[in-house]
Amino acid sequence: MVTTHNLGYPRIGRRRELKFALESYWSGKIPASTLAEQAAALRGRHWAEQRDLDLVPVGDFSLYDHVLDMSFTLGHVPERARALGGDALDMYFRVARGASAPGRDEHACGGGVAAAEMTKWFDTNYHYLVPEFHADTHFELDASRLLAQLEEARQAGVRAKPVLLGPVSYLALGKSKDGSDRLALLPRLLPVYARLLRALAEQGASWVQIDEPILATELDMDWQQAFNVAYHQLRVPGIRLLLSTYFGPLLDNRYLATKLPVDGLHVDVTCGHDDLAPLLNLLPEHKVLSLGVISGRNVWKSDLGALLDWLEPLAARLGERLWLAPSCSLLHVPMDLDGEDGVDPEVRAWLAFARQKLDELGVLARALHLGRDAVREALQANREALIARRASPRVHKPEVRAAVDAVTPQMGRRASPYAQRAARQAEVLALPPFPTTTIGSFPQTPEIRHARAEYKAGRLDAQAYRAAMLAEIEHCVREQESLGLDVLVHGEAERNDMVEYFGEQLEGYAFSRHGWVQSYGSRCVKPPILFGDIRRPRPMTVEWIRHAASLTRKPMKGMLTGPVTMLNWSFVRDDQPRGRTCMQLALAIREEVLDLQAAGVRVIQIDEAALREGLPLRRSAWAQYLAWAVESFRVAANGVDDHTQIHTHMCYSEFNDILGSIADMDADVITIETSRSDMELLDAFDRFDYPNQIGPGVYDIHSPNVPTRQQIVDLMRKAALRIPAERLWVNPDCGLKTRRWSEVLPALANMVEAARSLRATAG
Ligand code: GLN
Ligand code: ZN
Repeated sequence: MVTTHNLGYPRIGRRRELKFALESYWSGKIPASTLAEQAAALRGRHWAEQRDLDLVPVGDFSLYDHVLDMSFTLGHVPERARALGGDALDMYFRVARGASAPGRDEHACGGGVAAAEMTKWFDTNYHYLVPEFHADTHFELDASRLLAQLEEARQAGVRAKPVLLGPVSYLALGKSKDGSDRLALLPRLLPVYARLLRALAEQGASWVQIDEPILATELDMDWQQAFNVAYHQLRVPGIRLLLSTYFGPLLDNRYLATKLPVDGLHVDVTCGHDDLAPLLNLLPEHKVLSLGVISGRNVWKSDLGALLDWLEPLAARLGERLWLAPSCSLLHVPMDLDGEDGVDPEVRAWLAFARQKLDELGVLARALHLGRDAVREALQANREALIARRASPRVHKPEVRAAVDAVTPQMGRRASPYAQRAARQAEVLALPPFPTTTIGSFPQTPEIRHARAEYKAGRLDAQAYRAAMLAEIEHCVREQESLGLDVLVHGEAERNDMVEYFGEQLEGYAFSRHGWVQSYGSRCVKPPILFGDIRRPRPMTVEWIRHAASLTRKPMKGMLTGPVTMLNWSFVRDDQPRGRTCMQLALAIREEVLDLQAAGVRVIQIDEAALREGLPLRRSAWAQYLAWAVESFRVAANGVDDHTQIHTHMCYSEFNDILGSIADMDADVITIETSRSDMELLDAFDRFDYPNQIGPGVYDIHSPNVPTRQQIVDLMRKAALRIPAERLWVNPDCGLKTRRWSEVLPALANMVEAARSLRATAG
């Protein structure tokens, strides 16, 4: 008999109840007791939705973040958050959001207590709060949250399996603040974990899931050794440990993972089964093998028939030792397709969200117990959906396929090398030294958002909405003219979101109404669903840009989202390689680029905000990703004539390790984030001679602070130490859409002033 279980469930609620409860609590509208009740109600509902499983995760629920929860369980709270006193919940949100931060601004430290740093959870779009380590960090068990939830689950009759983040991953995911070695803390950490396991045993827990996702990454000898040390010490009578890895195969960590003294191993097998045969040979006979067969990372129905074909012999071989689960926590997929009336019905039939994924698991388990006949109808329905998807003309468009096959390296290459182009562009654009520009968006005011909401609700007609946006664009252009900026933008008033805006105009994309996924804390995103071959039926931005350009004699920058960012911020089809899908997007954007050029637009920016975050977990896979990602960008951008200037923007500046690839994109100008790091991040440019123009951000748009002229001049002088002044631009870090006009205008005025003084001293 195969055991079914789940590694984690979405916490936010099917209608984002947790988000609204949190935000009400933070704004003082509900007391802590109400927040606690609502959280308990959500847990109860989520457990009920998982009741068909043999083991249900407990402790995966979190008010903000599961890594932060683990820090509190380990009594590991930054000193600055303790110092202010208050109860545990105050302290918890203080670490998560900073003290007295009204609506989180990640980088503000209102009240003097900075929030903990946030970073991406492996290669997902979820962000966790980074534990901060020092040489003298101490740990002290506080099992109260976990024990209370375990008791709650017991009362609800849940077959509970507590979930913990394992000690080695916990250390690996944190940052040493004083340069000390994180692994040196392991001997202090392990006794606390052991006490926690004993406490769970006393509460009647039997299986405990201990997550060590770093086993899916490359580990050096010290970290491998840490695993051995840790798991030899974590043997606690009465507790059986299921060591869980996910987000990729074990590969070179296979031996290590199978030999650790635990009772079971969970592996992600959604990226192929190659790992499995060697794993089976290595795994000791007494251990449970849990296979993550249903993807916790995409929204597609699984091929249940194909899964059964290879699971049946395995089940015969492993018997009770075989467990089945989703590949990872279902945190990364939307909650429920039921009641999803946003997605068009044809596409909807191909999808599975968290609840549907658990249903699939149930079908697999029943088929393995009782034979396929017992679930004939479910298998039949599954097969029909897959056949329909495979045959749908909305998924497969021969002309798109042919266009991708016809892509030549030539299409990704500019006609002339940079120096020659730059000279042509200088003639056409006639810009001063240290030209000023912005990254694209201007404030999305309440008026703009209101107009869009009214339009979507059908209360404002298309014409009136268009008129409102055109008026906003005009206002934005006038403001930039009076500020004296050199290269203007239209301000992106008409865009709700930089991916959704384009997705809505492309064939091959679908949108859900409730498909929310947690990004961090109460923040959720609703990634569009890229289901089919991508086609651009008509120009997407030309009219807006042309209108904006008609209002000024200064160059107007066309503004597009790049193919890699479109891909990385969508749920992407699983029936062809990502690189191929990316190239389809690239071809659609290339058409837009060429249309903009034909409309007389001389500067075109193609944002690749998410290029870096698509990097695979294992470095050994980086080169392959970068090859197709860079090629896609090149095909999108580089079909233009010499005199057209291509910009790209990336809102980060950890470029050290990928600067060569960024240079290969061959954009004429790249704008990046740097002001928060005081230009330190430009160090990368010391070691690598970036050949084209750069706009290192000099205005931190994440903060309401207005930079002074002198601050900007100082930053630019630092930049000029690394990059020749004639190749520097002056611009903010990122788009201005989250700021207010009252902040933006003085900041940009100072920026323009700074550029003028730089010109004066240089000239
Ligand atoms: N052009 C976009 C904007 O200004 C870029 C946003 C981003 O990099 N995330 O809003
Ligand atoms: Zn940005």
